[in-house]
Amino acid sequence: MKRILITGAAGFIGSHLCDRFIKEGYHVIGMDNLLTGNIRNIEHLFPLANFEYYHHDVTKFVHIPGRLDYILHFASPASPIDYLKMPIQTLKVGSLGTHNLLGLAKSKEARILIASTSEVYGDPLVHPQREDYWGNVNPIGPRGVYDEAKRFQEAITMAYHTYHGLETRIVRIFNTYGPRMRVEDGRVLPAFFSQAIRGEGLTVFGEGNQTRSFCYVDDLVEGIYRLLLSDYHLPVNVGNPSEITIMQFAHEIMALVDNPKAHIIYNPLPVDDPKQRQPDISLARKVLNWEPKISREEGLRRTYEYFKEVVQPG
Ligand code: UDP
Repeated sequence: MKRILITGAAGFIGSHLCDRFIKEGYHVIGMDNLLTGNIRNIEHLFPLANFEYYHHDVTKFVHIPGRLDYILHFASPASPIDYLKMPIQTLKVGSLGTHNLLGLAKSKEARILIASTSEVYGDPLVHPQREDYWGNVNPIGPRGVYDEAKRFQEAITMAYHTYHGLETRIVRIFNTYGPRMRVEDGRVLPAFFSQAIRGEGLTVFGEGNQTRSFCYVDDLVEGIYRLLLSDYHLPVNVGNPSEITIMQFAHEIMALVDNPKAHIIYNPLPVDDPKQRQPDISLARKVLNWEPKISREEGLRRTYEYFKEVVQPG
């Protein structure tokens, strides 16, 4: 049985990865310090013999007894309000945490996949974003703590690959959504769903003409699974190229929830908010034979089922 360590296991994406690797017959070791994760996301796995949970902060030395075949490093605050509230932790988990996990991978001769992000492209001047675009990032802006931690993470991962011959994989994740997103994490989809269900104003930032491209979590997990098992070590974009404005997105969610009290309100645009974002997934199509399968209509429908359970109507 292959043994895999997943950091950020109690988070949104981490918990879906735990489910997938359990389903594939792996022994999964989930690690989290619950800074932004929620233990409820993985408590259904606790009775299983092939699941273990370690409560640990990966910025401290990471010790795992026994063999390890794979590591997935998904621990990090990941929403703009989280990394504004926790700038130092965000920098540390991307830098010190990644260093610890690379060291662990080296000592165990394990393959490691790290979670990078479309934020490495910053507010992009090239559209859609291909992996060979170097990005437009403000290092000292409010998003700099996340963007630069992830850029450092890519650099140190490549250095371990080059200088130590470590087996490394880098996924650049674009906006992802689905069940288990934190209701109050400030990201656009949990905000809009909870506001629509409660019959409040949907807080559109700016005029809402900035764009994003939203990928359903099951599609993302499939892309990550394929990348881990591939032999491709350079960064790969995984996301859904279907791009919409935030205003259109607000209207799609209002139409789905169909609460007559829901309406649009305008809030100021945050500093350095990227104006547009869309992954070019030609590389993932070529090297992983992967593309998203779940339409936004279907993905939003499934996600609404989850938000109906966790948000009380107003
Ligand atoms: N946004 C918004 N209202 C909200 C939260 C976010 O209009 O209540 C906008 C935000 O300005 C950004 C987009 O939605 O342009 C996506 O924001 P999110 O925080 O989900 O993630 P980002 O892609 O910016 O990291």
